Amino acid sequence: MDFRSDTVTRPTQLMRDAMASAPVGDDVYGDDPTVNDLESYAADRHGFEAALFTTSGTQANLLALMAHCDRGDEYLCGQQAHNYKYEAGGAAVLGSIQPQPIENNPDGTLCFEKLKAAIKPDDFHFARTKLLSLENTINGKVLPLDYLAQARQFCDQHKLSLHLDGARVYNASAALNIDINEISQHFDSMTICLSKGLCAPIGSLLLGSEALISKARRIRKMLGGGMRQAGILAAAGKIALTEQTKRLAEDHYNARYLAHQLDSIDGFNVNVDFVQTNIVFAKVDERIDIDLLTKSLEAKGILVSASNPIRFVTHQDVTRDKIDVLLSELKAMTLQSRKL
Ligand SMILES: *Cc1c(COP(=O)(O)O)cnc(C)c1O
Repeated sequence: MDFRSDTVTRPTQLMRDAMASAPVGDDVYGDDPTVNDLESYAADRHGFEAALFTTSGTQANLLALMAHCDRGDEYLCGQQAHNYKYEAGGAAVLGSIQPQPIENNPDGTLCFEKLKAAIKPDDFHFARTKLLSLENTINGKVLPLDYLAQARQFCDQHKLSLHLDGARVYNASAALNIDINEISQHFDSMTICLSKGLCAPIGSLLLGSEALISKARRIRKMLGGGMRQAGILAAAGKIALTEQTKRLAEDHYNARYLAHQLDSIDGFNVNVDFVQTNIVFAKVDERIDIDLLTKSLEAKGILVSASNPIRFVTHQDVTRDKIDVLLSELKAMTLQSRKL
């Protein structure tokens, strides 16, 4: 039982069968029919001209930033943005692109007044502000649809491009119970992780215009991300989009259940209002020794992150009865793991 992340999901039987029989070719030559099919399906499905299959979400974000921005350009993003905080500074290191982070509001949005103040004037002292990058979901929270429309308007007004780090964007559309296009329509480019709650073993997508994707394809090769018979992976990626996207509401339901139950355990505190998708953050009070707790859980075959707050993530491989096992173990252990 692994609650650390939805990246731990394993490919479904349908995926394994499709992978085994996928027609393949050399994708660097553009010859892999399964990759080509995934890319054209994904572009069409999300309302973009073109798509690119990438090794990871980190690579897809980096390609987007480098395709939108040249050396000495700048992108606006949140302090908590994955592509600012958790991607080893790739945009700065490899793209010579300056990040301009803005403090995220508690709901994950960025204040337009602060963004406006951060846009640099056209003057040779400054980096050129080119792009706004948003993230949805962000720490499990869903950006409101009307906020996305406002962001589009803001970018048009200030001649910026708009990128979405949509690693878990299908969790956002499932939570709002809307078609994915209601979200994607606002963006010039968008990434999707196929290897998180959607259960593909490897891979992400970058979506955008023909021009953007052709630039990104060149940079992907430069970064060593040109893959050969990648149809083996793309076959699973297609099923991630066509099948696995349908079941995310179940993960959200399980997360809410877990959140309410955790909040009722002495020593655990969950802001249940922020549990909108498949991620639960539980603050643990100082009476509980987190290292001891996580080690005791591990001994019972239950993996959770040793952090405070503890992040619990629901996904296909943690069913409701496994959540009940976690809860009963936690109830028993919190009594023992108190530092007295
Ligand atoms: C996981 C994640 C990524 C990066 O994906 P990897 O495939 O792990 O490189 C990017 N953005 C967000 C919001 C993520 O959660």
